[in-house]
Amino acid sequence: MPASIGCADTIVRVTFRMPELPEVEIFKRYLDSTSLHQRIGDVDVRNAYVLKDVTARELARGLKGRRFESSRRHGKHLFVRTDNELWLRLHFGMTGSLQYFKNDKQAPRHARVFFVFANNRRLAFEDQRQFGQIGLLKDVDAFLEKHELGPDALRIDLEEFRKILGKRRGAVKSVLMNQRFIAGIGNLYADEILFHACIHPATEIDRLNNMAFTKLFRATHYVLRKAVGASADAKQMPRSWLLPHRGKGRKCPRCGRKLQSVIVGGRTAWFCVHCQKRGSKN
Ligand SMILES: [Zn+2]
Repeated sequence: MPASIGCADTIVRVTFRMPELPEVEIFKRYLDSTSLHQRIGDVDVRNAYVLKDVTARELARGLKGRRFESSRRHGKHLFVRTDNELWLRLHFGMTGSLQYFKNDKQAPRHARVFFVFANNRRLAFEDQRQFGQIGLLKDVDAFLEKHELGPDALRIDLEEFRKILGKRRGAVKSVLMNQRFIAGIGNLYADEILFHACIHPATEIDRLNNMAFTKLFRATHYVLRKAVGASADAKQMPRSWLLPHRGKGRKCPRCGRKLQSVIVGGRTAWFCVHCQKRGSKN
């Protein structure tokens, strides 16, 4: 999971697997530091699969001659405002990332769309597995409402967290990852959050008592903030975390016992059976 952010004159590369809230926050900072306030001379769509509810012609017509002015992240979505009040929507799917570069020799191999600036620098939307999405819209809040996205995981307090998740049913990990409840958490960080909250990923959420809920909320904010602080780079995350240790035959960084995996909601959860307990109302 290499990540580096440099000044606009250097080759920069930000690549992650399966972007979740921390990765998308790093993409936002990367875009903000490289691509704002420059006139967009052209939009070069190399692979139209990525376009959602917009054609290549409409995308180019909406963006050419304009500038990206600011950006806003919500969960795993990144919205970029232009000076004609349109918003570019980026969703990074499984392998999406951004690269800002100087000339064609530096163009990333799996670039699907290039935003070509008047100074001839380019911002590429790169996406090997082709699950990413690019759209163009006028109203971000209307988009969030239409797609029934919950509030951003880092912008809710304990009361709201409890209110939203407290009435749900199902495995706690599946509930955490459901973007309609709260937005931004995927497979990797859900496991990390549950590891910190000492909760087994398959625990039925209605079995969590008040104290466990508070722990879960604190772990959610702690993990997501700390991951952003570590540039979402596993190598920079604390060794006491689950993330650098996930996988077959690896050991729990807390107790040294072998980690185990279980399928929850169709995804592989890694956890420590000794450190993470199933919740109890008692
Ligand atoms: Zn353990």
